[in-house]
Amino acid sequence: MAVSQAIPLTRHPYADGSYKKMLIDGKWVDAASGKKFETHNPATGELLATVAEGDAEDINRAVAAARRAFEGPWSKVKPFERQNMLLKLAELVEANFEELSQLDTLDMGAPISRTRGNRLRSLGMLRYYAGQATAIHGETIENSLPGEIFSYTLKEPIGVVGAIIPWNGPLTASIWKIGPAIATGCTVVLKPAEESPLTSLRIGELCVEAGIPPGVVNVVPGYGETAGAALASHPDVDKVAFTGSHVTGQSIIRASAGNLKRVSLELGGKSPDIVFADADLDAAVPGAAMAVFANSGQICSAGTRLFVEQKVYDEFVGRVAEFGKKLQVGNGLDPNTQIGPLVSQQQMDRVSGYLDIGTKEGAKAVAGGGRLTEGALSKGFFVQPTVFANVQDNMRIAQEEIFGPVISAISFKDPDELIKRANATTFGLGSGVWTTNVSKAHQVAKALRAGSVWVNCYQAMDPAVPFGGYKMSGYGRESGKQHVEEYLNVKAVWIKTG
Ligand code: NAD
Repeated sequence: MAVSQAIPLTRHPYADGSYKKMLIDGKWVDAASGKKFETHNPATGELLATVAEGDAEDINRAVAAARRAFEGPWSKVKPFERQNMLLKLAELVEANFEELSQLDTLDMGAPISRTRGNRLRSLGMLRYYAGQATAIHGETIENSLPGEIFSYTLKEPIGVVGAIIPWNGPLTASIWKIGPAIATGCTVVLKPAEESPLTSLRIGELCVEAGIPPGVVNVVPGYGETAGAALASHPDVDKVAFTGSHVTGQSIIRASAGNLKRVSLELGGKSPDIVFADADLDAAVPGAAMAVFANSGQICSAGTRLFVEQKVYDEFVGRVAEFGKKLQVGNGLDPNTQIGPLVSQQQMDRVSGYLDIGTKEGAKAVAGGGRLTEGALSKGFFVQPTVFANVQDNMRIAQEEIFGPVISAISFKDPDELIKRANATTFGLGSGVWTTNVSKAHQVAKALRAGSVWVNCYQAMDPAVPFGGYKMSGYGRESGKQHVEEYLNVKAVWIKTG
C-alpha cells in the first residue's frame, strides 16, 4: 500500500484556527451560554477552528427566527424569487468551490479528489431545486358528489424544518437540506455534525451573500444530545429532516412525538453488492472495491456485503484485495491520496474494534486488517483498506454497519438462495449487481429490498433521481420530485359553486 507524502498545509481562509460564530436570523452570534468547541483535521490533529457551541437556548432562538421569517416576509416571496436565490447560491458555491472542497477535506478528511468531484452534484442539486421552486402545484380533482362542488389541492410549505446532518459529506448534506427548504418556501435550522461544522457555516455565509432573507437559513453547530435533541423535540418545528445512524433516527422519532412533527430519515446500511461469475470482472474489481473504500467506507450506502459467486470467489476476492493494497492512503489534501483518514478517534476505535471482531469470528483479512501509523500518518486516524474473506452471513461483520473501509466477502452458489441472503439484513439502502446477463440484472434488481440498485456501477447519484431507504435505512426520499414533496403539505379546497 502506498502512503501519500505529507504536504505542507497552507492556511485555509476558513480554517485558520480562529473562532466561528453561529448564524441566527441573518446575524453571526455567540452561543447564549458562551460555550465553544474545537474542530480538528483528522489527518493531522491540527486545530482548524473553535466554533460557537449551540444548545437548547440557541435552538430556541433559531427556531423563533425561522418561525418569524416563515410567517412574515418569506411567505410573500414568489416562487421565481426563491428560484433566483437558489441560482445565486449555486453561482456563489461554484465561485467558491475549491475553497469549499478544501474545507470538507480539512474538516472530515476525505481526499480532495473526492470533495472536488462533488462539484457537479452540489451545483446540480442547487439548480435542480431552483427548477422545482417554480414547478410546485396542486391539482384540480373531479369529485363525485351530487350538485356543483369543485375541488382542488394546494401545495403549501410545511413550515420550520429542523435539519440534522452527519459528518461524512458536509457540503452535499447541507445543500441536500437547504435546497428543498428554499425551493418550497420553508425555513430551516441546520445543525451540522460536531465533527465537521465548518462547511455548513461557510454555506450559511453564502446564503446571506445570495440575498436569502434573515431567518430563512439558520446554522447552529453543537452536539447531538444537546442542540440536536432540542431541535428534534422542539414544539415549534414542523418537520425534522435527519441523516445519520439508525439509533439516533429512533431517538429522533421519539423526540418528534410531542408535536407529531413530520420526519424524514436517511439512515445507515449494510448494502449487498453481488458479483456473478458472468460479470466483466475487470470492471467489477475496482467497482466493488471502491463501493466500500471510497470516503474510507464512510458512506451510508457502501456495498459492504460483497456476495461473490463461488466459481470466481477466490480469484475475485484476491483481485479486490490486491486493489485495496495498492490504494494510496494519506492526507486528503494531497491530490494523489485515494483514501483519507476516518473522521475521529471514536470512529477509528469503532472500526478497529470490528477488525478484531472479524478475526475472532473466523474471517480472514486478505488485505489490511489494522491501523496505519507510520510517519506522517501517526497523528491521524488512518485504517488500512481491509478485505475479509470467508465471511459467513451471521457474523457481526456481515450484519452490522462498520462505517469504515472494510469489505466482508461472502461466497454464494444458488441464485435463489442468494436473494434471501442478500435481503437478510435489517437495512435496505443501497445494493449492487455485476453481471453481463440483462435478464438476471432485472430479476435481481426487482427482488432486492433496497432503495437503490446499481447494476454494473455503484453509487451513481443524481439530483433528479430519488435516494432513500427501505426497512431500518429510513423513510422519505432525497433528490427527485419526492424530495420536494417531503417539504410540502397538501390542502384540499372545496368550493360549492351551484
Ligand atoms: P449520528 O446519528 O451519530 O449523528 C448524525 C447527526 O445527528 C449529528 O449531527 C449528531 O450531532 C446528531 N445527533 C446525535 N444524537 C442526536 C440526538 N439524540 N438527537 C438529535 N440529533 C442527534 O451519525 P454519525 O455517526 O455522525 O453518521 C454516521 C451514520 O449516518 C451512519 O449510520 C451512516 O450510515 C448514516 N448516514 C446516512 C446517510 C443517508 O443518506 N442514508 C448519509 C450519511 C450518513
